[in-house]
Amino acid sequence: MRKLSILGSTGSIGKQTLEVVRNAPSDFTVEALTCGSDIDTLYSQIEEFRPKVCSVVDEQKAKELRDRLTVSGIDTEVLTGKEGNITAATLDSADTVVGAIVGFAGLEPVYHAVLSGKDIALANKETLVAGGDIIMPLINEKGVMMLPIDSEHSAIWQCLKGEKREDLDRILITASGGPFRGMSRADLENVTVSDALHHPTWNMGGKITIDSATMMNKGLEIIEAHHLYGISCSKIDVVVHPQSVIHSMIRLKDGSVLAQMGKPSMVLPIEVALYYPQRGPSIVNEFDPFDPQMANITFEPCDAEVFRLVKLAYEAGNRGGLVPAVMNAANESAVRAFLAGRIGFLDIEKTVFETVEKLEPVISGYELSLEAICRVDEEAREYADRLIDGVN
Ligand code: NAD
Ligand code: MG
Repeated sequence: MRKLSILGSTGSIGKQTLEVVRNAPSDFTVEALTCGSDIDTLYSQIEEFRPKVCSVVDEQKAKELRDRLTVSGIDTEVLTGKEGNITAATLDSADTVVGAIVGFAGLEPVYHAVLSGKDIALANKETLVAGGDIIMPLINEKGVMMLPIDSEHSAIWQCLKGEKREDLDRILITASGGPFRGMSRADLENVTVSDALHHPTWNMGGKITIDSATMMNKGLEIIEAHHLYGISCSKIDVVVHPQSVIHSMIRLKDGSVLAQMGKPSMVLPIEVALYYPQRGPSIVNEFDPFDPQMANITFEPCDAEVFRLVKLAYEAGNRGGLVPAVMNAANESAVRAFLAGRIGFLDIEKTVFETVEKLEPVISGYELSLEAICRVDEEAREYADRLIDGVN
């Protein structure tokens, strides 16, 4: 039985994690739930799963939730702020932390969770992009497990089971191509927020949906795979596969290629992570090879001249150090501004490129540490925000 602390429980991954718990309640306990501000969803989750502790970043919302719980006679403790997430992530009664916060905000709680000896089931890729160089050594030092939830990384993990790490030759990471697959630079000039939010195969939170439209999601996933599987970014290829049935592949040194397949659903990778090394109790989204949707499984290259953030992510991943943290922070700022209608679609890429170019020489003297990563994240956000405001 896993005792869970779910960080970001009101989001897309958080809700699907609770679906896995709901499917087999005797296999889990829910010790803690946290969110940014969505207390309506959190309240109903608390009513159903009765965690010991919950946390809401927004202080006013935390107070409102506390009042509602008191009226209902529910004794879940309500914490708040950044500290609340860290307390939830390090709770004595939990053994596994599900990292489902979106963005860099997920890094510190996960770092503290590892420090306090928790296994980590990780969806929050930005944590590894910005902090993989400190998180992965800590995972090894503490002897805890890193259980990937991101579907591509779950696929790679499943394919690697039973193989020797030195036999891994390349990773072929699949990508749906997003809503703008096949478009030219000129086409991308005029796409809108609602076009970008319309993902062809996955239903996810806003930030990752925009990252899928720019293909930065694949860029982040290349760096995530580099940290998880100790392989250089130059040995990871992106394969556009619009049907999202093959979740990724590995090529072994004898040329054999292994793939993991399934209908697009995050419930399965969440279940794979939470039941590891066992398998979950019931079939999730039964796979039918004769479903017409499966009839044409196709592959095409990713056009990195159109989706330039993929190229930048390879470069940032190869340079390593604090560069990926700068790229990630600038991307978060730019995606937020795009979603708010403040900049155009191609301005996301422009903001990220300019921020990396400007800050890379500045940060080159910083030594790698959690503090340095947090500082670089803040500096890059500030720089990107000023660019967005037209000040720089
Ligand atoms: P989402 O926007 O749906 O949910 C994010 C959750 O984080 C919410 O509960 C929100 O309240 C919480 N949150 C936001 N800011 C916070 C903060 N500062 N402190 C604490 N909590 C905060 O996002 P999502 O789609 O569920 O994605 C979560 C993470 O998982 C992302 O890193 C994403 O890249 C990754 N991921 C998601 C999917 C997917 O299918 N949704 C697939 C693979 C990986
Ligand atoms: Mg993914």
